[in-house]
Amino acid sequence: MSDSIIQVKNLHKSYDMGQSALHVLKGIDIDIKEGEMVSIMGSSGSGKSTLLNILGILDNYDSGSYHLNNILVRSMGETEAARFRNRYLGFIFQSFNLISFKNAMENVALPLYYQGVNRKKRNQLALEYLERLGLLNWANHLPSELSGGQRQRVAIARALISQPKLILADEPTGALDSQTSNEVMDILESVNASGISMIIVTHEPKVAARTHRVIRLSDGLIVPNGQPHTQEASSIVQETKP
Ligand code: ADP
Ligand code: MG
Repeated sequence: MSDSIIQVKNLHKSYDMGQSALHVLKGIDIDIKEGEMVSIMGSSGSGKSTLLNILGILDNYDSGSYHLNNILVRSMGETEAARFRNRYLGFIFQSFNLISFKNAMENVALPLYYQGVNRKKRNQLALEYLERLGLLNWANHLPSELSGGQRQRVAIARALISQPKLILADEPTGALDSQTSNEVMDILESVNASGISMIIVTHEPKVAARTHRVIRLSDGLIVPNGQPHTQEASSIVQETKP
């Protein structure tokens, strides 16, 4: 047993493109300890979402190994994989992925529905989580009646309600202005401080700077000692100065 929540070794993933294959992940190694808050950076199309979807057991990998909580994901049956997704993992997306015809409370309660919790209990818990995120007065409102920041807070409440051990966030601030983005990062930091591990995909250096460490993807591989892109660029500029 290791104290890693995630251990990935030599992970490969290609997409079948009919005649050819698109080799997106070309031998990824990652080790994330319990309690860590890590960001994944890389240019558009570098495979960040592909990697996050594999980590969230939303997609399969081709070869290599992936251990989640010391369990080889490949060896999980569909029932166990679903149990992990519902009880162990929380997901946050750039576009919030709220159900447009359900109000904030019903959206937050949804994971409990899949766990078979009765309506009264799940609505009561949903209100508690909305209150924690400062949204109690918005419980009966539809997503279309909320601001972007409020929508993302609803999505965070929905991710938290099943008390996950690990949250996977794909560009959680990508659709928000910089002040709202800061507010969402304040919340995610305090969620992490409460003991929940976190992986945040982002292309914003400001967001990455608020995590414990940066994993940088480039050409399907992880750049050693992932440096923020801006620093790489500026050091190249300095080196080429006469
Ligand atoms: P990122 O999140 O870093 O922008 P993605 O993981 O979404 O990158 O995509 C990596 C590459 O894989 C891109 O070239 C993208 O077009 C391709 N890709 C992503 N998903 C699929 C898919 N389901 N089928 C085929 N190609 C895909
Ligand atoms: Mg992406």
